[in-house]
Amino acid sequence: MGKPTGFLEFRRRPVPYRDPQERLKDYAEIYTPADEPRLQRQAARCMDCGVPFCQSNDGCPIDNLIPEWNDLVYQGRWRDALDRLHKTNNFPEFTGRTCPAPCEGACVLGITDPAVTIKNIENAIIDRGFAEGWVRHDPPEERTGKRVAIIGSGPAGLAAADQLNKIGHGVTVFERADRIGGLLMYGIPNMKLDKAVVERRVNLMRDAGIEFRTGVHVGVDQDAQELKAQFDAILLATGATRPRDLPVPGREAAGIHFAMEFLTANTRSLLDSQHADGRYISAKGQDVIVIGGGDTGTDCIATALRHGCRSLVNLELLPQPPLERAPDNPWPTWPRILRTDYGHEEAITRFGADPRSFAVLTKEFLVDADGRVKGLRTVQVAWERRNGQLQMRELPGTETTWPATLVLLAMGFLGPETAVSDALDVALDERGNYLAAHGEFSTNVPAVFAAGDCRRGQSLVVWGINEGRGAARAIDAWLRGDSCLPAPKLTLGGALA
Ligand SMILES: Cc1cc2nc3c(=O)[nH]c(=O)nc-3n(C[C@H](O)[C@H](O)[C@H](O)COP(=O)(O)OP(=O)(O)OC[C@H]3O[C@@H](n4cnc5c(N)ncnc54)[C@H](O)[C@@H]3O)c2cc1C
Ligand code: SF4
Repeated sequence: MGKPTGFLEFRRRPVPYRDPQERLKDYAEIYTPADEPRLQRQAARCMDCGVPFCQSNDGCPIDNLIPEWNDLVYQGRWRDALDRLHKTNNFPEFTGRTCPAPCEGACVLGITDPAVTIKNIENAIIDRGFAEGWVRHDPPEERTGKRVAIIGSGPAGLAAADQLNKIGHGVTVFERADRIGGLLMYGIPNMKLDKAVVERRVNLMRDAGIEFRTGVHVGVDQDAQELKAQFDAILLATGATRPRDLPVPGREAAGIHFAMEFLTANTRSLLDSQHADGRYISAKGQDVIVIGGGDTGTDCIATALRHGCRSLVNLELLPQPPLERAPDNPWPTWPRILRTDYGHEEAITRFGADPRSFAVLTKEFLVDADGRVKGLRTVQVAWERRNGQLQMRELPGTETTWPATLVLLAMGFLGPETAVSDALDVALDERGNYLAAHGEFSTNVPAVFAAGDCRRGQSLVVWGINEGRGAARAIDAWLRGDSCLPAPKLTLGGALA
């Protein structure tokens, strides 16, 4: 423990985001540069409590050694902190930017005071590591002669590739998109995770011997059985990419899009041509309604604002969360409270009001004579607990119409697509995910494994890394009879699974 009285002396001071007025003018990351002396004081707030709940079942899903690197940062030993961080996390620059930080929800200091700024400190360690040139490619000394195909290049596929390559297996990653990264590349917008940060890590992995093949849609334009014959093992890390639809009257109207169509095209066009090619769905001058919250909804809001939308509304079906933890949501569980994320803050700056309306059910899309969406008809709902279940009731007399010329559906995902699982005869579970137990990751087909959102359903980057690391260990054990790769946490991850 660096400073025994640190938590008494220093208040929590997170690294601020850039001024919303300024950041709305560009697609650069929203974060301000880390102020290292300030972060050292923040690290000094860590109490190194006997039982570090930040690493517990409710805390960090990849068992980051948080109190250890907090102490090292307080002492100014940044390089040692980086080594500790890389022991458990292949990609701290991704989690340091995008993780909702369940560790902070479980921080012991959080019982009486605001939690330690763990995520900021993690990000500062890895950014310093890259700036100093300490993060280098890490090829294995010997090769095992075994070959593994990884299908999908999101955090799960990349974490597995990194682990398997380090231990000496030959790894080829197949990705149907034109760039590597999965949702790190084409889901999470540049403002939250600069794509140069993703490419920097992918380049290191390539230099370490991992082969990346883009534009290969396995099960569609690449025979999956052929791959199975060519490789000693296959890992499915294809994500949960089937979006939930809203099949109400008028859904067929032009101007209604799934969030991922909007976000993917935006990032691709930004990277290809700074939007000069016009190959994206523009929100400029439009009345935009985003249906659904979460990270996807927030990212749609932030992107539409940067395009220059005329108005913006965000409709949520669920009720507004409380401002403080409810009695049935005690520490150290993830606090289910109202959060004003970067996109909401930007909408407040642009339009003077929070764009969110809660407990709103969409009944119909209103369509003009040309077949384009022109609005929404909604009704307010009440949520009541009956027989232990939350149930929804429409409130009479609350019908509302909203103008809308662009509607973005951000209502979550239903599970993985099935081209690969069909081709390989991989069984699905009752939710439509690839059936493979967490911790084992093996499917019903010998030598075929599954990890990440395609196995657990839409989740988080940090859970993708957990699963990729776990699957790498399972594959290594399958190939060699045993594995010395670390086994990450096997809990289901509570509310933030
Ligand atoms: C808009 C959005 C924002 C998000 N923001 C956050 C956030 O801020 N923080 C956070 O922690 N989580 C966030 N998430 C969730 C997080 O991104 C995912 O949980 C995580 O990326 C899942 O990783 P994965 O590796 O399992 O799959 P993915 O990242 O989905 O990657 C799967 C990859 O497999 C490829 N693929 C699929 N089928 C095939 C095939 N047959 N052949 C070849 N390639 C294939 C896909 O093209 C894709 O690139 C967000 C999700 C979305 C949609
Ligand atoms: S990965 Fe997420 S949960 Fe783990 S230490 Fe970093 S911010 Fe916290």
